[in-house]
Amino acid sequence: MTPSSLLPAAQRTLKTAKIKITTKCNRHCDFCIFAEGGQGENMPLSTFTQVLDRLEQIPFRQLHINGGEPTVHRDFSQLSSLAHDRFPNLTMVLGTNAITLARNDRILESTLAHYDQVLIGCDEEHDNYDEVRAVIPVLREAGTTVVINSVLEAIAPDRLADLAALCDEHGAIHVTNHVHHIDVGQPANDLGGLCDRNVDQHLMIEVDGDCYRCFNAMAKNDSEFTVWDDDFAAKVFAPRRKHYDFCLKCHEYQDSGLQIVPAPAAPTRTAAV
Ligand code: SF4
Repeated sequence: MTPSSLLPAAQRTLKTAKIKITTKCNRHCDFCIFAEGGQGENMPLSTFTQVLDRLEQIPFRQLHINGGEPTVHRDFSQLSSLAHDRFPNLTMVLGTNAITLARNDRILESTLAHYDQVLIGCDEEHDNYDEVRAVIPVLREAGTTVVINSVLEAIAPDRLADLAALCDEHGAIHVTNHVHHIDVGQPANDLGGLCDRNVDQHLMIEVDGDCYRCFNAMAKNDSEFTVWDDDFAAKVFAPRRKHYDFCLKCHEYQDSGLQIVPAPAAPTRTAAV
């Protein structure tokens, strides 16, 4: 089978487009580099609509709405409805800490109406055990896929066991991860070739339109292009030629062995006439 990175751009499909609709959040997790508490910024509705216009130029399978905490965006319900109507055949995914979902019926109803999957960070830092316990049964009863994600450095073993049991009881998925997107004292990677971890995987779009082709690489220096560029669609599938700042400290580094990834597509042979 041909690896997707070797296919011509016209035949490749991005797994996930992720729009960060706000940098506001109702929590202050120590490890988080994505949010600025109550001081953050919301993506205006008009900008969000323009981002959807840009995304119509590229093939992708899932649309993630993220933040910050996306449910604190004052237009969350309207944004969700717009995205759902624009891409009715895509999987709609919400990344949230579930706190608003547990406390605001209108937001919960909007979530049930527009999202196929809800991804919830849950650990001591998020401090949202009660809210997660309240919303999992409701979401699962409505048929929504629920993935609970705990940062191993930020959760006690008994809490972890409780969460696993809760997920088991309601058919939710429990996953764990390390704080992989920041420097937490881990030794630097011995970088060889470029990381092929995110080839055709994630496109993350910030509130200002800056784009990152990796969920972990999110320093301003790591942005390679913006959603406003005329050749945005081509850039999404363009070869990567350098490391991101975060690669040095990333747990997920996977050495492609190549200095350029994806490898340029082999020229197509055409029959002589
Ligand atoms: S090493 Fe980490 S930050 Fe760098 S591209 Fe791979 S997954 Fe992204």
